[in-house]
Amino acid sequence: MYSQFVEFVRDTYQTKDFIPLHAPIFAGNEKRYVLDAIESTYVSSVGNYVDELERMFAEFVGAKYAIATVNGTSALHIALLLSGVEVNNEVITQPLTFVATCNAINYCGAQPVFIDVDRNTMGLSPVKLQAWLEEFSEIKGGQCVNKVSGRVIRACVPMHTFGHPAEIDGLKAVCERFCIALVEDAAESLGSLFRGQHTGTFGALAAFSFNGNKIITSGGGGMIVTNDEALARRAKHITTTAKVQHKWEYMHDQIGFNYRMPNLNAALGCAQLEQLPVFLERKRELAEKYKEFFSKSDISFVLEGEGCKANYWLNTLILPDRATRDKFLELTNENGVMTRPAWVLMSRLHMFADCLAGDLSDALWLEERLVNIPSSVVI
Ligand SMILES: *Cc1c(COP(=O)(O)O)cnc(C)c1O
Repeated sequence: MYSQFVEFVRDTYQTKDFIPLHAPIFAGNEKRYVLDAIESTYVSSVGNYVDELERMFAEFVGAKYAIATVNGTSALHIALLLSGVEVNNEVITQPLTFVATCNAINYCGAQPVFIDVDRNTMGLSPVKLQAWLEEFSEIKGGQCVNKVSGRVIRACVPMHTFGHPAEIDGLKAVCERFCIALVEDAAESLGSLFRGQHTGTFGALAAFSFNGNKIITSGGGGMIVTNDEALARRAKHITTTAKVQHKWEYMHDQIGFNYRMPNLNAALGCAQLEQLPVFLERKRELAEKYKEFFSKSDISFVLEGEGCKANYWLNTLILPDRATRDKFLELTNENGVMTRPAWVLMSRLHMFADCLAGDLSDALWLEERLVNIPSSVVI
């Protein structure tokens, strides 16, 4: 099985060299745009490519506004601040996520609260979210208050794991009922749709990432998305040192952040975004091949859910148990085909070990069995 898999991946990528989990592809206008940015001298926080990337991105995801940032973590940080997250608030998220989600919550001075994921979507479970809120929270003066800690539960951050949409309409309904702001961590789900609507457009604010391993990259970069004009204006303001617009005067009206994406990165990002539709097609073809390959085995290949369109950013397997998973990881990595287990659950990291949590049985189940396999676009 392992050797057949290694063969299959080598065949697919047509190489005897090391095969990484996800490598970017620069087959479009990358060099032209980056060179153009350099020649224009606008390589930093001002420039046409930043405006163009924001415009193209908003159009692609079907949101009114998009605000480029220096990375996905900073986009999440600002999305949380603009959702009203304050020091000593609580923010609900899933334990199965990349550490950036919890770091951003922490940057606001807030505490993560961990609620379980669904086994099939790998995203936050609306059923478990609702059950936990019913048991442990109450609405006081229009705010959701944790009856155990006494803290306000301000926001909820589901994550669309590996590009598979979480059950976002269910989550949205629960958040609305409990007066909690919905902030989607859509860092992994550019190109993923839930019932035809792009992930990251369900709550008031969402964050995307263009890190080097994501479906498209700007070297480093992120994007805040919103349909609310006032929030968009505040997002732009606070990510650009809160400088008041003036021809020569330097005036700042609050503590701001230097989170603006440099034009040089935006140039790369524009060229990448142009190719996204092709990347999505190719990734779907690759997922089909994997699906076919694993159909004859006791390993299950994670498919997009009903009514969902996944971007298949990182293809995912569920192995029968931990022992089989460890064997699979060992034999594939030993043979130069990179595979990777799930992140260690956030609830088990020492920084977040004291945070409140509900029953996390499905996240623990997935943590033992899940493996990501090579997913770069095949050229
Ligand atoms: C990539 C990623 C981010 C943002 O990461 P940056 O490296 O800061 O762009 C946030 N959340 C998740 C789940 C991610 O995968």
